[in-house]
Amino acid sequence: MDFSIPSHIQELRQAIHEYIQEELYPLEAEMLAHGWSATEEVLQAKREEVKERGWWAPQMPKDLGGAGLSLLEFSHISEVLGQSPFGHYVFNCQAPDAGNMEILHEFATPEQQEMYLEPLLAGEIRSCFAMTEPMNAGSNPTKMSTMAVKDGDEYVINGRKWFTTAADGAAFTIVMAITDPENENKYQRASLILVPMDTPGFQLVRNISVMGEPGEGYASHAEVSFDNVRVPLENLLGGEGAGFAMAQARLGPGRIHHCMRWLGICERAFALMCQRCAERELSEGKPLGTRQIAQAWIAECRVEINAARLMVLQAAWKIDNEGTYAAREEISLIKFYVAGVLQKVLDCALQLHGALGMTDDTPIAYWYRHERAARIYDGPDEVHKMVVAKRILRNYGM
Ligand SMILES: Cc1cc2nc3c(=O)[nH]c(=O)nc-3n(C[C@H](O)[C@H](O)[C@H](O)COP(=O)(O)OP(=O)(O)OC[C@H]3O[C@@H](n4cnc5c(N)ncnc54)[C@H](O)[C@@H]3O)c2cc1C
Repeated sequence: MDFSIPSHIQELRQAIHEYIQEELYPLEAEMLAHGWSATEEVLQAKREEVKERGWWAPQMPKDLGGAGLSLLEFSHISEVLGQSPFGHYVFNCQAPDAGNMEILHEFATPEQQEMYLEPLLAGEIRSCFAMTEPMNAGSNPTKMSTMAVKDGDEYVINGRKWFTTAADGAAFTIVMAITDPENENKYQRASLILVPMDTPGFQLVRNISVMGEPGEGYASHAEVSFDNVRVPLENLLGGEGAGFAMAQARLGPGRIHHCMRWLGICERAFALMCQRCAERELSEGKPLGTRQIAQAWIAECRVEINAARLMVLQAAWKIDNEGTYAAREEISLIKFYVAGVLQKVLDCALQLHGALGMTDDTPIAYWYRHERAARIYDGPDEVHKMVVAKRILRNYGM
């Protein structure tokens, strides 16, 4: 593959980087001190600005109102957006909406697209994705208790989900529920169903407090329940029994988005770390950066970020050229590798900032709390390692 960045993407990347530094970095202190909702209003204004500049929803096709970038092109932009906690949200390519847009674009009927995709793309509503359940191991998504039973021309849904990110304030959820429990193929038992949040029987039970943060609005991770929730059969997304396959299709490109966002975080934390090493004097004329242990961390972080980026770009290139299925191994490799690099870079940056690293005067502590989850969501490290090792060992007759 060609690793060079096309000149039009380089220019776009540069322009977006400048915008983020000038317009979004100054808003971070307010959010770090008072939570996401403190900046909600000003972020809406920034979203309008981004629309006017033609940068809106960069991952979506132009005819739908996006910027029409390929996955590989978007990867370069996603990295720059990741350098601010606001980047993806302001550009309308944030999880879980971005994944839902992709799934609706690929699998929804024209009526479903009009009702759900269009307002989502326009930034008028938010959405969420409810798959994980408190009582079942999320790392094995074929094991699920939530049921959707046909009754006349409706599905009746019963069950409980949690870690439904951004559920608080969302207009609808895509829920994964069992529709064919007897199917011999466990991968064909579940379906994806669209559920407006104001449907009777649907309840947001609580916003789960995560890593010391209560979480609200877009920053929420909610526990939600479905108690005889009735929706028309037309709310089925894709085919019945295709839920697992569609969720996997959603997760492939989604992992590229996450990994490039994480690399953006790495670059910002790395820059802050180097700045601190150059400025913080330990003794007269001897800044922190003169110490070999700090130098070793700088070099180690640099090499791991660079290596991780090449791996992610290669995976994105393979998805663009050969499809998500062909790139399964690469996707698993980057998911656990880049999540690990992120933890290391954030830990080094926090450590070298000393007490300042523990404060919310820089975004490092915020990311240190938030991004610990990177090793868990979208498949824990252990599952991805198992997937890769099994595929490799098959070549050895195992
Ligand atoms: C911040 C955050 C946001 C999330 N957002 C969403 C969302 O929007 N929608 C949604 O549906 N879900 C969401 N999730 C849930 C996430 O997808 C699950 O947490 C994940 O799939 C793991 O499931 P689990 O938590 O039930 O862990 P479990 O399945 O109980 O696994 C626990 C641990 O066991 C180990 N383990 C698991 N399987 C294996 C194995 N095969 N071999 C060895 N060890 C293993 C791993 O260390 C794993 O971390 C989110 C989670 C977090 C933390």
